[in-house]
Amino acid sequence: MAAPEESVVHGSKAPGKAEAKDLPAVDRLLRLPAVAALIETQGHRLVADEARALLESLRPRVLAAELAREALAPEALAAALEARVQARLASRMRAVLNLTGTVIHTNLGRALLADSALQQLLTMMAGPNNLEYDLATGGRGDRDDLIEGLLCELTGAEAATVVNNNAAAVLLSIAALAAAHPGGREVIVSRGELVEIGGAFRMPDVMASAGATLVEVGTTNRTHARDYAGAINARTAMLMKVHTSNYQVQGFTAAVDEATLAPIAHEHGLPLVSDLGSGALVDLAQWGLPREPMPQEMLAAGVDVVTFSGDKLLGGPQAGLIVGRRDYIQRIRKFPMKRALRMSKLPLAALEATLRLYLRPDRLTRDLPTLRLLTRPLAEIEAQAQRLQPALAQALAPHYTVAVAPMLGQIGSGSLPVERLPSAGLTVAPVGVGKRGLGTALERLSVALRGLPLPVIGRIAEDRLWLDCRCLDQEAAFLAQLGPLSEALQG
Ligand SMILES: *Cc1c(COP(=O)(O)O)cnc(C)c1O
Repeated sequence: MAAPEESVVHGSKAPGKAEAKDLPAVDRLLRLPAVAALIETQGHRLVADEARALLESLRPRVLAAELAREALAPEALAAALEARVQARLASRMRAVLNLTGTVIHTNLGRALLADSALQQLLTMMAGPNNLEYDLATGGRGDRDDLIEGLLCELTGAEAATVVNNNAAAVLLSIAALAAAHPGGREVIVSRGELVEIGGAFRMPDVMASAGATLVEVGTTNRTHARDYAGAINARTAMLMKVHTSNYQVQGFTAAVDEATLAPIAHEHGLPLVSDLGSGALVDLAQWGLPREPMPQEMLAAGVDVVTFSGDKLLGGPQAGLIVGRRDYIQRIRKFPMKRALRMSKLPLAALEATLRLYLRPDRLTRDLPTLRLLTRPLAEIEAQAQRLQPALAQALAPHYTVAVAPMLGQIGSGSLPVERLPSAGLTVAPVGVGKRGLGTALERLSVALRGLPLPVIGRIAEDRLWLDCRCLDQEAAFLAQLGPLSEALQG
């Protein structure tokens, strides 16, 4: 039985071109043996929807006599349909190769989880767990209990709690300790520390949304102890230090360190809160890396509450860690906003496993991917670049040349913005395009690299594409894609 459109609709009659009467009805397309097999695995609903959409997308092209008759052959239609179904099912979130040279790259998902954290995630998510259940008493538990002891042990804090991310930790700490303060809501911060982390996270705005009143003291480059002391009055609720994690003020500068500020705060019965941003739990200087302030040092210097991120230098999942004095942590934990910002069981499982790795500090550069990448020996990175150079050069010839080059990477995510990490990798330069064709040729190459099954992300600078090898763990996967890369650039 012919579908009505097959007998009624007539397309233009161009030789070799498909006509409207060649377009099958949806039902007929679904009955093709290849399509029946597709329905068997993917189900009728999705395949039928895509079959309808495929035919609709073909119709105008058929009417415009753009399509060869072969494009409507059963095998061609079945293949096109399968491709559409696969594309619908393909995840938008994709694994990529980070060859940007920035180890903790916020846009590329920040810290990579350790194997033990991945294992723990899988095990804990596969079934029920004791997230809020006390196995000793058989009664209700608190999810904070799963990691509080460990965090206290690692930082020397009296108490600890965790929330969704560090932005939440800062917001919650200010709201609970300052905005909810009966005397007044003023929070004193140095003008040199009013950071913008990115997006809408700007210290003055965070203060406002937390319901606190920002009191700026000092100047952009210099703030003294007397500036803080002079600003304290009956309405003051707390003093705050913010780590200037993504910029540095240089030259004629002065800042008040935590050890100096803590007694000033305590004299007036006020808490001193420090937002560390990244916050390393181990001293990075032991591996020749630039130093990053540590929460345990801040607490030892007299800071009452320290907040830091889970997925920056700590090397874990997205999380906001809050450690400090028991009474203040208790107020933070009991504040209603905490419930809205609480951590989910997924990152919590991964965070606990990550923190446990710190119990073996001398194994961290092996077990914690972030530290392993940051401490990768330069000679090893150079050797890798040397190994990859001939293969990439061959894949990109004759349109591009490839050279091994020293390069400077960075830790990333606002950690130590000025310090660079000596690294090595490959630079790719277009051949024979002249000054004016350079941009287009480089753009074409980075588009092709991003279009690979495992997208490769580099960066363009100084008329070259730079591929930093520091974070290239999957060397075989990179090499396996050179054939497809070469093809993509021919097309
Ligand atoms: C990164 C950072 C934040 C925000 O932390 P997230 O974990 O990204 O929410 C806040 N303060 C400082 C100083 C930071 O560096």
